[in-house]
Parts: sequence; structure tokens; C-alpha cells
Amino acid sequence: ATPTALMVGTGRGAQLGILIKGPEVLESTRRVDTVVLDKTGTVTTGRMTLQKVYVAEGADEEQVLRLAGAVEHASEHPVARAVAAGAEGRVGRLPEVEGFENVPGRGVRARVQGRDVAVGRLFEELPTELARAREEAERGGCTAVVVGWDGEAHGVVAVADAVKETSAEAVRELRALGLTPVLLTGDNRTVAAAVADAVGIDAGQVIAEVLPEDKVEAVRRLQREGRCVAMVGDGVNDAAALATADLGLAMGTGTDAAIEAGDLTLVRGDLRVAADAIRLSRRTLATIK
Ligand code: ADP
Ligand code: MG
Repeated sequence: ATPTALMVGTGRGAQLGILIKGPEVLESTRRVDTVVLDKTGTVTTGRMTLQKVYVAEGADEEQVLRLAGAVEHASEHPVARAVAAGAEGRVGRLPEVEGFENVPGRGVRARVQGRDVAVGRLFEELPTELARAREEAERGGCTAVVVGWDGEAHGVVAVADAVKETSAEAVRELRALGLTPVLLTGDNRTVAAAVADAVGIDAGQVIAEVLPEDKVEAVRRLQREGRCVAMVGDGVNDAAALATADLGLAMGTGTDAAIEAGDLTLVRGDLRVAADAIRLSRRTLATIK
């Protein structure tokens, strides 16, 4: 082909804050018609903070926070950071844990102060008051995680992060390029719908409650429908989906796993640059033709 034009495209990309794996990557963007956006850390800041704590009858708020915070302290997940920081702020130093286990897309477990503690979406059954608390938190746009020990749920902790200031504009730009934006998340449907609404993604284009290993399948399903898919993500959970998509865009603010799996890196973590990347490659390819 004409490597010079592709090299120029690559150089211009660097100026815009787009790192491109290789010039050939630009060619994959030609047919892209769908952009799948991960929610946490991509559309939202991923910097969650503790909002509210609910406890079941007989449980004590400090204990719920202390045990949840201790287990989450060992995790890097945005939800975990919020719970650990919030707990530490309210109850002080957190106890040591043993046998920490991460259950991807679901939560964490460990032994703390002689109890088997679990935090996340790891309980099938909730007492009515906690089920109600979770629903209230989610309707308010919070991610609600259940805290329990020794096989029983004892509390619900609500955390929330903000939609990035630039996300709504980015979605508008992607649409203007003729692309269909889709929101993909492991988070709850209600929370996902609130975020989609805030940035202007159609309710029918929200794929929620997807386990990390199923994010790949969600991308494949769109591809089977004949769509050419770009995926934008930041998490360890997104790496496989980024590799499977026709074009993978990693947030430079995200994990190494995502950056390695992507074809492009958006250095500043600004979603508007995804639109720049697609515009740039279209222009570069037009020059070649
Ligand atoms: P996303 O796709 O939005 O980046 P994830 O797939 O990482 O989200 O997580 C999906 C859901 O699993 C979270 O919204 C949360 O309910 C639960 N979860 C995952 N990790 C944790 C954790 N460390 N603590 C509590 N809950 C967690
Ligand atoms: Mg994410």
C-alpha cells in the first residue's frame, strides 16, 4: 500500500493523544459502525465514593464497614477502593485479612476476625429490608454491594461515581460519525440505564449485568449480527473483549492488561478522542485511496 500516508496518520495520532500499535490498525477502523463503551472507568470516572450504608436488623454499621473495608482493601476494583477508603474514614484502621479471593465481576471474599466475609454480588437471598435498600440505592444511580459473613447478608453499601464531563459530548460525536453507541457493563441494569440516559445512549443499546468472561460474547454477538465493532474499555475485565473487537481502544488511564489488548490507546482517558481516532483514520485512508 502507501506506508507514508499511514505513517503520517500515526504521527498525527500521537499529537492528538492516540497511541497506535501499528499503521495497519488504521485500516480496521474503516468499516466500524458500532462502538461498545464499557461503563466504569470509561464513560464514568471510575473514582467511586462511599454514599450510604444500610444494615440488617441485629447488625452493626461499624462492623459491616470494618469487615467490608478490610476485604476490599486487598482489591483494586473501583468499587473496592471506594468501600475501603470510606470504611477507613469512618471506623479507622482496618483489620488484617487471610485467604483473600477475588471473584471477577462479582466481588471478593476473605477471612476477617474469625469470620468468612463476602462483599459484592455473592448472596442469592437477601432479607426484605436489604433487598429494599439495594433497590433504593440503585434507583438513585448507585452501585450497591452486599456485605455478609458466615453465609448470611448483613448489610448493603452504596457507592457511586460520576459520569465524565466529556462523555455526553463524545457520544454525540460518535453518533455524528454514523456510529451506534452501546453501553456494556457488569453493573446492575438500573444503574446502567441511569448512566446511558445521562450520556445519550438509547435504552435499547444497553447490555448490563454481564460477567467479565461474557463481555467477549457480547462483542461476538454484535459481530454475528453483521456489525463491525469498536470497543472502548479500561479494565482487566475488558481485555478479552478489546482483543476480540474489530478495533480495540484502551483508556490510557486504565489497566496494563487493557492497554496491551487494545489496538489504540487514548492517552488521556478522554472518550472524545475515540471519535478523533476514527475521524483520523478515515481521513488517512481517504488520502491513500
Ligand atoms: P464494569 O463492567 O462496569 O467495569 P465489573 O464487571 O468490574 O464492572 O463489575 C461488575 C459488578 O460486580 C460491580 O458493579 C459490582 O457489583 C461487582 N463487583 C466486582 N468487583 C467487586 C468488588 N471488589 N467488590 C464489590 N463488588 C464487586
Ligand atoms: Mg471498566
